[in-house]
Amino acid sequence: MKEKVFFLKMNDNEEDAAVCARLETAIKEKDFFSFIQPKDMVALKTHFGEVKTKGYVRPLYFKMMGEIIKKKEALPFLTETSTLYRGRRTNAVDHMEFAYGQGFTYENTGLPIIMADGLMGDQETEVQIPGKLYPTVKIAALIAKTQSLVLVSHFTGHILSGFGAALKNMGMGCSSRKGKLIQHSTARPSIVRKKCTGCGECIKWCPVGAISFVEKKAEINKSICIGCGECLAVCRFDAVNYNWAETYVNIQQKIVEHAMGVAETKKGKAIYINFLNRISKDCDCMGDYHKITPDIGVLISYDPVAVDAASLHLVEEYSGNVLSKMAYDIPYKDQIDYSRELGFGNPDFELVTI
Ligand code: SF4
Ligand code: SF4
Repeated sequence: MKEKVFFLKMNDNEEDAAVCARLETAIKEKDFFSFIQPKDMVALKTHFGEVKTKGYVRPLYFKMMGEIIKKKEALPFLTETSTLYRGRRTNAVDHMEFAYGQGFTYENTGLPIIMADGLMGDQETEVQIPGKLYPTVKIAALIAKTQSLVLVSHFTGHILSGFGAALKNMGMGCSSRKGKLIQHSTARPSIVRKKCTGCGECIKWCPVGAISFVEKKAEINKSICIGCGECLAVCRFDAVNYNWAETYVNIQQKIVEHAMGVAETKKGKAIYINFLNRISKDCDCMGDYHKITPDIGVLISYDPVAVDAASLHLVEEYSGNVLSKMAYDIPYKDQIDYSRELGFGNPDFELVTI
């Protein structure tokens, strides 16, 4: 049986206010938030973007959704988790200040921000899953604890997982710091010395100081490297080498198992909303932005695998190209295929235009 994925179309470069008004009507008419009960604590999980990144889902959508949820006498709040990377989103205080700077203030959203993994990313709950890699995964404590989840994801290409949307926002975005480290633990790049020009760009961007010069060429200390892939993204000389055959499969499977952990805590109490606009080659953690497809619309489902499978399908249909030609030339469907293998969610979807 196919899983329904609701599709609200948008025009290319359509104003957010117009899309938001139509989404509000759709949510109310279809009563998409019917699973939310009075007094439920409702986590609206998103990504606040990155400096210079234009692709994140804007605050006005959360204000609209928060108001609908408040009318149900529930208690919505915005939430996120700390990143592994050095920078503005590595602990709760910096991350929240950063979010305010991106426009996610109480004035703009009507929602408090409560970090799901505590002050330092270490507040976690161990969740049992029927996985193949892990019997349990480490999920951000508040995600596991809240009664309801509205997971709002922005579809992008991704240097390690091929694409990022609901599964990535759950698996990586809703896990604790330890959970994130476990997911990144197999991806270890190395430097091709012959190609390295010694420009130093990778050293500047490495979030954990794992790269230094040895005889004027970059060298990675693999005991420090967390496998984030930033060096690969910034090297213009093709001098950073990944063992993709191992890396992409491993990381996508780990993401799926962590996403499964989130879903285990929210059976019948979550909705997954993917925004297919301002789609860029890189994820919203990267400070660069290149739009790769025309804007498509918003997809809504109660199944995170169905919504991601439908998103991927539409991105390729609208662009008339496969994602690996527009973003990173790596196999990018493992998140969907591995979900099917595990019996997690339903990758077979039926698009319902609203
Ligand atoms: S960015 Fe590339 S070329 Fe520059 S130092 Fe690093 S590995 Fe070498
Ligand atoms: S993948 Fe590259 S940038 Fe990331 S931690 Fe390892 S060496 Fe540093």
